[in-house]
Amino acid sequence: MQLLKKRILQDGRCFEGGILKVDSFINHQMDPGLMKSIAVEFVRKFGASNVNKIMTIEASGIAPAIMTGYLMDLPVVFAKKKSPKTIQNPLSTVVHSFTKDRDYEVVISADFLTPDDNVLFIDDFLAYGNAALGILDLMKQSGAHLVGMGFIIEKEFQNGRKRLEEKGVRVESLAIIEDLSHCRIKIKD
Ligand code: 5GP
Repeated sequence: MQLLKKRILQDGRCFEGGILKVDSFINHQMDPGLMKSIAVEFVRKFGASNVNKIMTIEASGIAPAIMTGYLMDLPVVFAKKKSPKTIQNPLSTVVHSFTKDRDYEVVISADFLTPDDNVLFIDDFLAYGNAALGILDLMKQSGAHLVGMGFIIEKEFQNGRKRLEEKGVRVESLAIIEDLSHCRIKIKD
């Protein structure tokens, strides 16, 4: 997606340890126009599939997921990173965060993820694939069917795609970062 690649090169910042900071337009301050274009791309990629629900994980997946859900006229559910006391029929799994270097619990209510659901999962980043594999575990527990996973930015060199494709997951990314070494952002054409 040319518009996104251009924006990453213009406003993205690279940090030691393979971290890309895009907090002026995705992760902190957000650009709704760009987010709408991102959602249009996800619809282009997954619109012909039999998706009946969009799923994401809080917090940064919510904006692209809600835009995509709006365009496809589908409900959007997000997995939570803290279990609320009031949650009913919780399903949970543990995910390792490499940006924060810690494990956290991810929870979703089985009321909103059921065997009747054909799910498109959307998130901001695919890095090592830990969050996405956690989502896959929640889907398995719920009996829901995964149609595919869409990421705004994939960091190819951290091999998350390989881990997901090995499990038969369809992976689509709108910008693929080939390399961040020496703090230079190299994006795939
Ligand atoms: P994974 O579980 O695939 O290793 O990492 C995915 C999650 O970690 C994403 O949901 C995202 O929140 C965060 N993340 C991974 N890499 C980056 C990065 O380079 N920049 C930012 N801002 N977040 C990242």
